[in-house]
Amino acid sequence: MTALSVVIPMYNEEAVIPVLVARLRPVLDSLDVEYEVVAVDDGSADDTANLVERCRLDWPQLRLIRLRRNSGHQAALTAGLHRSAGDWVVSIDADLQDPPETIREMLRVAREENVDVVYGVRSDRTTDTVFKRNTAGLYYRLMRRIVGPDLPSQAGDFRLVSRSVVEVLRRMPERVPVYRLLIPSLGFSSRAVSYTRERRAAGETKYPLRKMVALAWDSTADFTAAPLRLATWLGMAAFAASLIAMVFGLVVWANGTVIPGWTSLFLAVLLFAAVQLICLGLLGEYVARIYRTLQSRPAFHIGSDSADTPVPASVVPAQRTPATMP
Ligand code: UDP
Ligand code: MG
Repeated sequence: MTALSVVIPMYNEEAVIPVLVARLRPVLDSLDVEYEVVAVDDGSADDTANLVERCRLDWPQLRLIRLRRNSGHQAALTAGLHRSAGDWVVSIDADLQDPPETIREMLRVAREENVDVVYGVRSDRTTDTVFKRNTAGLYYRLMRRIVGPDLPSQAGDFRLVSRSVVEVLRRMPERVPVYRLLIPSLGFSSRAVSYTRERRAAGETKYPLRKMVALAWDSTADFTAAPLRLATWLGMAAFAASLIAMVFGLVVWANGTVIPGWTSLFLAVLLFAAVQLICLGLLGEYVARIYRTLQSRPAFHIGSDSADTPVPASVVPAQRTPATMP
């Protein structure tokens, strides 16, 4: 029985794989537990899958799940979590920004304190850019308002969960949940372990601004319908403003000083048209979510899982990557 699964989503991470393997393997080997490393290749266009495949030749605990196409970080995490076998499952980024050594501490805390979730909390983000730190700060403040104070601040997707949590997650009807919000909202007992966020070991971030905005919007829309209520408040504000404008219009008319008034009319039409479109757009976002949920298409397709097709014993390592040299 596998005690520990380490799930690593990877998207075009060929540059970090040798460094990752060199640093992760000694940590896991020294834990004295049966483990598996579940590398989820999220439809990379580079050599990621081949490199992992090569590392597997002399690291039998390494497992490769390949998604047919790029489906996103949270979808890759879902694939890994759902297929993992361990009593404990750790999710970690491939780029070594989350130090693998912290896994030892997470496992110790989970066992000694008998909790189901151990969050990795970033105590120091000075290696991140000022932009990333500020946008992340804003994100966590907003999410704490939406999800509640139980949400650990600065806890991303580096965490350890027990098998009971994984089983609850597997049964959730959501296609691709935002795990960093969903897991705290489940109410399992938890602890936090702090760590220093390191610099990306190699390669470039796979989270451009577009994906960050998409994650922030998914996080908001998955947990609150407040933006829809905003439409009601905007409507009420517009109604109040129009009452005042009506009184003004009647007074001007009664005084017989009817001014041309083209500018005010023009601006009012523009403003109300914009407000209506914003509200319609917000409504559309939620309708689209309902539609996608009804379609219930899988968020990712698994092309292959090395656990289903074990490497035949006759295969001899063709080439050892420098990182796995003793
Ligand atoms: N990732 C992924 N699919 C994507 C984008 C990212 O699997 O579409 C993985 C990526 O390989 C990494 C993790 O998600 O292991 C976090 O990405 P990254 O480190 O680039 O994000 P950042 O730390 O810059 O926020
Ligand atoms: Mg990173």
